[in-house]
Amino acid sequence: MSRVIRSLGVALCALATCLGAAQVDEARLRNADTEPQNWYSVHRAQASDHFSPLKSINQDNAADVGFAWQYDTHTTRGLEASPVVVDGVMYTSGTWGVVYAVDARTGKELWKFDPHVPGKWGRRPCCDVVNRGVAVWQGKVYVASTDARLLALDAATGKVLWQQDTLIDHARFQTSTGAPQIAGGKVIIGNGGAELGVRGYITAYDAQTGKFAWRFFTVPGDPAKPFEHPEMALASKTWDPNSRWDVGGGGTVWDAFAYDPDLNLLYVGVGNGSPHPRYARSPNGGDNLFLACIVAINPDTGRMAWYYQTAPGDSWDYTATAQMVLADLTIGGRARHVLMQAPKNGFYYVLDRATGELISAAPFAAVNWATKVDIKTGRPELAPQGDYSGGPKLIYPGEAGAHTWRAMSYDPGSHVAYIPVVEWPFVFAPGPVPAHYRAGASSTYEQVLDDDAVPAEQRGTAGVPIHYEDYLEAYDPIKQKVIWHRPESGGPDQGGGALATAGNVVIQGDAAGFLNIYAADTGISLAHINVGTGIMAAPISYAIGGEQYVAIMAGLGGSANWTFPKDSAAYRYGNAGRIVAFKLRGGRVPLPPKLSHDELVPEPPSVKSTPALIERGKTLFEEARCNWCHANAGPGIVPDLFAMPPEMHSLFKKIVLGGLLEQNGMASFADMLSEADVEAIQAYIVDGAHKRRAEQLEQGKP
Ligand code: CA
Repeated sequence: MSRVIRSLGVALCALATCLGAAQVDEARLRNADTEPQNWYSVHRAQASDHFSPLKSINQDNAADVGFAWQYDTHTTRGLEASPVVVDGVMYTSGTWGVVYAVDARTGKELWKFDPHVPGKWGRRPCCDVVNRGVAVWQGKVYVASTDARLLALDAATGKVLWQQDTLIDHARFQTSTGAPQIAGGKVIIGNGGAELGVRGYITAYDAQTGKFAWRFFTVPGDPAKPFEHPEMALASKTWDPNSRWDVGGGGTVWDAFAYDPDLNLLYVGVGNGSPHPRYARSPNGGDNLFLACIVAINPDTGRMAWYYQTAPGDSWDYTATAQMVLADLTIGGRARHVLMQAPKNGFYYVLDRATGELISAAPFAAVNWATKVDIKTGRPELAPQGDYSGGPKLIYPGEAGAHTWRAMSYDPGSHVAYIPVVEWPFVFAPGPVPAHYRAGASSTYEQVLDDDAVPAEQRGTAGVPIHYEDYLEAYDPIKQKVIWHRPESGGPDQGGGALATAGNVVIQGDAAGFLNIYAADTGISLAHINVGTGIMAAPISYAIGGEQYVAIMAGLGGSANWTFPKDSAAYRYGNAGRIVAFKLRGGRVPLPPKLSHDELVPEPPSVKSTPALIERGKTLFEEARCNWCHANAGPGIVPDLFAMPPEMHSLFKKIVLGGLLEQNGMASFADMLSEADVEAIQAYIVDGAHKRRAEQLEQGKP
């Protein structure tokens, strides 16, 4: 033990010149550009622009960028965080909210903190047990674990200084996946879970002591009960009094915050409704505040200063939870302090961040749910194509959103934003609306169909021909113009978050496991580096001793990677979670050993089966959300059920009902499924395994 402490002390003294670890304060954040070697928060500093002023790595030498070091997280789930680097120490988070502190020059571990989230929580997140980063402030590292505890750790040792349970109702499937935000001496965190029937809110604690400060609900509760704070009186007027209060309303704040210290305003990005479609949620309509809103709050009091709603009465999962960039722009000859967001709904919003006034909103991707946003009223003009309450409609953007949590990067010098865009439409259709909320079941209540479910006369309506594209886009928010875009191959969410730097480069990882460097002004490819692990997270850049580094967390998973396509790194190499750092004149990145996919699916056991039972099993597989983690076919972020060995089949009931593998995150489903249900699910899986095995044998597999 003493040896560990001594080596830690030596390492930290060398790195942080003995001033103490992670000394981030208001003054350093204000002057972040004078210390470009540091990367103080997930999106670097108060501007949240995910831009680095460093330029040793630039368009002339990007081809020489190579491997500096790697740190193995020993995980195979999705990694979504961007690391923080302060005075040579890197802090970041991964699966379940585990925190890593490593020497940012060598990748050597200084400490690791595991919040020991009980395995039963593995069933609770909609989209993998991911975590999108830490906050660092005055010697502390803050993280929110999957089970929605907010923890303050000693930045020098990783020891817990305080922790708070942020949940108000443990029976609901609420989790935390986002990074905490520091604002005015408070630390603020929200929750996820709107796909599973929860009511959204954020909670503020004193950053030093952890003492509860205030809670702001983002949607009203049952009107039979008193309003928790004055904003709920305003919000409740925009909901049908007979709304589905049992389902929760949604409006979870699962990712982005920003803070302007001059205005002393905390900006909060609010999520979608629960249930998703307004006809099921608030049958008599209404805007349903504060769904899909950007809300500005005074962090001292917890009172709202203004709000702006991007998707009034949202029915499409169009969250306003994407990153909010704070910038200074000259628009129409007038200097404006703005907040910019490119949310899922496909419009790029520029707001006055003091007042919430809409300055501009233009599409940055294919949009057919609305024709435009009216600048005077601030409201979208809805297109008939966006209304699916009467039947299936093919809608752009789909639920995946034109842009969601993956960082965009905004260059404050050139005033250009670099956005990872997804142009995948979804066919929305009215789905069955259950009479009662059921814990653990999906609360989405619309159906998402294949695009051949759209009537021929509706295909390609609203001026948007059907297409599927995923690209990095350079966008000018002053002229509201696309400068360039780079189509990438493959399915949705192939490109990760973006980092632009003063070296005229934009850096982005991809699901195929490459780190790509492009010229920022032209989009021309400068480097294509094989990392061997699929990437969703955004890179960051920092410097130590004059050497510039780029670092990224690699690991596929999250909301869109339940299956690993054949062109993904995860399919070829597994999904070895790593932090990988790069520098000029580095070598090749060491690749994990290649996986073999030649194994024949084992002969499945014979189980009681009929076509009706198989069909029922398929329905239950979706109802109980088995498919949210275990894909319908092929390898994914958790075991491939259609290639299970016989011994797993014989333990199937003990696993699904008895919680045998709870410690791995596979919690019991005894609260949802009966023995007969599990037999039906197994019959469906066995049928699928037989089909896959027959296909393999036909292709001449051994
Ligand atoms: Ca959602």
